Amino acid sequence: MSRNDITEFRRMPRTDMSRVNGTSPKRILVTGGAGFLGSHLCERLLNSGHEVLCVDSYITGRRSNIAHLLDHPRFDTLRHDIINPLHVEVDEIYNLACSASPLHYRADPVQTTKTCVLGSINMLGLAKRLKARILQASTSEVYGDPEVHPQAEGYWGNVNPIGPRSCYDEGKRCAETLFFDYHRCHDVKIKMIRIFNTYGPRMHPNDGRVVSNFIVQALTGQPLTVFGDGSQTRSFCYVDDLIRGMIGLMNTPAAVTGPINVGNPNEFTMNQLASLVLDMTGSRSQVVRMPLPQDDPVQRRPDITEAQRTLNWQPTIELVEGLERTIAYFDGLLSTAPEIFNIPETATITTNAGVHHV
Ligand code: UDP
Repeated sequence: MSRNDITEFRRMPRTDMSRVNGTSPKRILVTGGAGFLGSHLCERLLNSGHEVLCVDSYITGRRSNIAHLLDHPRFDTLRHDIINPLHVEVDEIYNLACSASPLHYRADPVQTTKTCVLGSINMLGLAKRLKARILQASTSEVYGDPEVHPQAEGYWGNVNPIGPRSCYDEGKRCAETLFFDYHRCHDVKIKMIRIFNTYGPRMHPNDGRVVSNFIVQALTGQPLTVFGDGSQTRSFCYVDDLIRGMIGLMNTPAAVTGPINVGNPNEFTMNQLASLVLDMTGSRSQVVRMPLPQDDPVQRRPDITEAQRTLNWQPTIELVEGLERTIAYFDGLLSTAPEIFNIPETATITTNAGVHHV
């Protein structure tokens, strides 16, 4: 990062910024802005009239996620890893930076912990200096393999501190600790959202998450890889619902810190998800069983009472509708950019949506 980058963002013109949806235009930093959630957040904030600085290390974020925003006059980007300090001038910070898929966060676990811990310290230091609000993208993983079901915010969790998921689970837990200590000790205005499994367009085809894996496998005629006996459960939230909840939390009065669960409380087994994806794609793919990864939570469902009460939020897009949109996204990607699916050159793929020669 150069000094010029910083100066550029400070000098971005505010002239075209208008009042939209009754909110005052702000300068907003989104770390992890080129990721799946980050790119949707940047887009929504721009649509609400704000200036957005997207910061991403591009370890798992992708330029293609934000390609459609690059020419926007109120959008700016910076390649930067938040484990290093960042000096910019903003009014609000959304701290989303961190690989979130087990496949990716386990690939470089030390980097994952550094992103959660050093990244939070750097962003909290920035928020403190600027007196800026800061929202932390925490996770249902702080509940670990929960012994309480569904999970409400008051539950402290059941987390293995030395397992393969610990870099993420404990990293995110430590980030929560840092946020609340900066709040108590330095009066930093914090917002803590605990995000449950979220899916939608712009997930990476090789992300390793179950929704993207099953859809890509179904569309490309590969077997659907169900880990374990497939009876473990998750509750899947469509990305648009999640982003609405996230922005809603940021805009609450200063006294509201969270943590607040945001997720869809409808719970499915992985076997149910596999059947649904096969039905909806019309795929003839088989289902294969793979070993269950260590410390894989057996069940997960958010208690969203707090989000309903404080944010007047609840999800509106149910799984079938969200999957329709996500399948359409991956189907489009398959037609336009088949190379990112890593499929053998001669494959012919038949789906409900048509025949693809790749
Ligand atoms: N899973 C699966 N097949 C896959 C990928 C994941 O059965 O190809 C399972 C995984 O074991 C877990 C659930 O799906 O029980 C959700 O996994 P994901 O990685 O999407 O999210 P997380 O484990 O972080 O909730």
